[in-house]
Amino acid sequence: MVGLLLYTALAACNLYVIATRIGTMWWLLIPSALLAWVLADFVSGLVHWAGDTLGNPNIPILGPGIIRPFREHHLDQKAICHHDMIETNAASAFAGIPILALCLLMTHALPGAFFLFAASVMVLLCLFSSFTNQIHKWAHADAPPKWVVQLQEWRIFLNPVHHKKHHTFPFNNHYCITNGWLNDFLCKVSFFRHLEKALGHTGKPTE
Ligand SMILES: [Zn+2]
Ligand SMILES: [Zn+2]
Repeated sequence: MVGLLLYTALAACNLYVIATRIGTMWWLLIPSALLAWVLADFVSGLVHWAGDTLGNPNIPILGPGIIRPFREHHLDQKAICHHDMIETNAASAFAGIPILALCLLMTHALPGAFFLFAASVMVLLCLFSSFTNQIHKWAHADAPPKWVVQLQEWRIFLNPVHHKKHHTFPFNNHYCITNGWLNDFLCKVSFFRHLEKALGHTGKPTE
């Protein structure tokens, strides 16, 4: 709970600082949001791949925080639908705390449009990423809210039919779970296979 309060306070401070400093450069928020939405998809894919593939559920911190939830999700896809808001979003929010603290320092200490843009991207990336598990949960829900279904159909949120590709043999692609925009591209260039090769990993999850 303390972590969630800290996350919320840091996010609010960052948004306040950006809002007060951005002035006539408000239009920077449009490319910032778009870039952050794409990066959030990439980060979700990277974290999901790592959770599915690397380490094991018993290692400290990352085991219970990332690895176990992703591994268990493959055994019971619907379990995520029974998680409450805190269980769904807490781990992603905690990961954003150091980044939000850094952004706050950056917007205070470094002047100029570039750093404002960079801070906006990072802050929005944290906000979007903290929402990723909720979007993933909706992709498995039997009856998500109507507005969510519409966003899923427009492919702004992860589309359930698209996400099924990840839950289909051989279960080693389509890891991105925010909007899924990068999945086909990363699959086509064998991004995760190259990453496994670079790390000397077989690509098979360890128990
Ligand atoms: Zn998975
Ligand atoms: Zn899933």
